[in-house]
Amino acid sequence: MRTKLAAANWKMNKTRAEAADFARALVGRFPDAGCDIALFPPFTAMDAVSKETGGRVILGAQNVFYEESGAYTGEISCAMLKDAGCGMVIVGHSERRHIFGESDETVAAKTKAVAGCGMSALLCVGETAKQRADGDAAAVVRRQVETALKGVSPQAVTVAYEPVWAIGTGRNAGVSEIEEMHSGIRGVLSGVFGADAGGVGVVYGGSVSARNAPDIAGAAGVDGMLVGGASLELETFAVIIEAILAV
Ligand code: PEP
Repeated sequence: MRTKLAAANWKMNKTRAEAADFARALVGRFPDAGCDIALFPPFTAMDAVSKETGGRVILGAQNVFYEESGAYTGEISCAMLKDAGCGMVIVGHSERRHIFGESDETVAAKTKAVAGCGMSALLCVGETAKQRADGDAAAVVRRQVETALKGVSPQAVTVAYEPVWAIGTGRNAGVSEIEEMHSGIRGVLSGVFGADAGGVGVVYGGSVSARNAPDIAGAAGVDGMLVGGASLELETFAVIIEAILAV
């Protein structure tokens, strides 16, 4: 059975003190949650989160560069993240793909680098509103998954289905849309990994809230959630964790 995941992507939010306060309260509230909880603070607050959580939650990074070291101003390597205690790295987030122009090939290089360094990649995939309207959602997601995961160990990957039109819009995908896409992703994973695909988690992300979390958590094929805006307040994120635990 796959362990469920509750993941908080704080994006470009929270100072070190704010991150530490949240992390301390979170581990106080869920000392032994029964699911994986991952926090993805900004780089500057990773150490503060690590000190407060002491390994009780997964310390995550929102981005990484695939080269090992060198003249790449502003970038962070896998080895640096590992040194900071990081266990999981978001790759292919739609904001990286669409605002910063990351291609499927760049995402694939990052996924390989993360896996090769002994960390886990949280691979985000998802279609735009136009791609869905054109009937291309399944093909787009298939291409994103296949390109990123070629040559990567299944033990090193969790997939997040995050329709671009649902991220930060307040318009989450419906349960039937989620179930259809998660089932499709599972099929693609079987093609890539064969029998080992069963161990790969597939979580949903896109305008998850305290209100919709119970329905999404209960949808077939959903192994947890990647939460942006609603993870910034502990009370809301706690309700989402509880919804995941209730399934
Ligand atoms: C995300 O950033 O991965 C995300 C799903 O954001 P939000 O929950 O705000 O839509």
